[in-house]
Parts: sequence; C-alpha cells; structure tokens
Amino acid sequence: MSQSRPADAFRHRSTPRIFCIGRNYAKHIEELNSSLPGAECVIFMKPASSLVAPEEAITLPTNLGEIHHEAELVIEMGHGGRDIRAEVTREHISAVGLGLDLTLRGVQTELKNSGEPWERAKAFDHSAPLAPLVALTPDIDLSDLHFQLTVDGQVRQAGHTSHMLVDVESLIAVVSQTWHLLPGDLIFTGTPEGVGPIEPGQHLALSGAGLAAAEWTIA
Ligand code: ZN
Repeated sequence: MSQSRPADAFRHRSTPRIFCIGRNYAKHIEELNSSLPGAECVIFMKPASSLVAPEEAITLPTNLGEIHHEAELVIEMGHGGRDIRAEVTREHISAVGLGLDLTLRGVQTELKNSGEPWERAKAFDHSAPLAPLVALTPDIDLSDLHFQLTVDGQVRQAGHTSHMLVDVESLIAVVSQTWHLLPGDLIFTGTPEGVGPIEPGQHLALSGAGLAAAEWTIA
C-alpha cells in the first residue's frame, strides 16, 4: 500500500492562497524610494500560515530587524477563473475586507538589492493579520473605500482605493493571467503611504467605512 500522495491531492484543497500586490500606490513607492513596477504590478505570495484572525496575538520573528505594517484592502475570490477580463472581474469577487501585509523591511531591502526572492521578508508566520470579510454587495464601490490603521490609537496609515495605480478589477485580471484563480483565494491589493515599524506590546486597529474593523496586539 502506497503512502504517497500525488501532487493533485494538494491542488484543490481549501487552504486559501494569498496573492499580494506590491507598489500599487505612488506615495508609498516614493517613501521607500522604490521604482514603478516593470510589469503591470509586483506580485508575491504568502502561505496560509501567515494568516492571523482578529483578536489573536500576533507573534513576530525576533532578531531579524524592523517589521513594518502595511494596511491593505483585501479581496476574496468567489468563483475562480483564468484570463478574467477586467470588465467582469467584479462578478468573481465574493467579499472584501482589510488586512496587514507585515514586512521585515531590512531583510526585504537586502533581498531587493541582491535580486533574491522576497519570501523571507514577506511570507513569515503571522505576516498576514486579516480582518473579517464582508460580502461584496452592489452598494460597495471598490474605487471609493477609505481605510485606516492606528497603532496605539495614533493614525499611521489612511488610504483611499482611488489612489491605486492599478485598480481592483484590473489587478484580478492581471493575477488571473498567471494563475487560475480559485474560490477562497485572497488578494492583498497593496499599501498606501505611512508604513512604519511595529513592536511587541503595541495595539493595531484596522477600520474602514463599510468594512469590518479588527484589532490585534503584538505579543
Ligand atoms: Zn504590501
């Protein structure tokens, strides 16, 4: 009796895939002295082990340098698809919400400089705290959503989705050119300006008009 499992067994399991978009707000590109993406956008991934539910303690890597918050709008795919046209991508979204793309900034800078992949800076355990998602209803205008992150009660990031360089509909079209999107896939859509370091003991709160709020404490 074989104990082996074919690769297919892993392909459609329910664990969500997490796609993340980089460099999607001009002022954030400026604050990091980054350049505009060479292709339409920068895409990287995080494993499901990155996710942290609201109220759960966030446990971060130690001794690896500064960890920055990046507050982002998050999209959940309803039914999937490949090569989805931007005009119809909205029909493929099931829910929207807010999340944090936590980043080991010094590690990321080193990896950028040496041209290496970003996983060590972006895909560590607990690097993706996720607020509850709300069903996408017709009254939600994806290009008119305000959201903010406070750290210990002070506003650190205040974003508006109209400032995205590539809008949500187009991002889904771009990602679906490379991946056949599956139900439950999550897309973090990039962060506005205001990123900065977080430390143990601090209290983070995400909120946005029409979106579900969430809070976390750094362990
Ligand atoms: Zn990000």
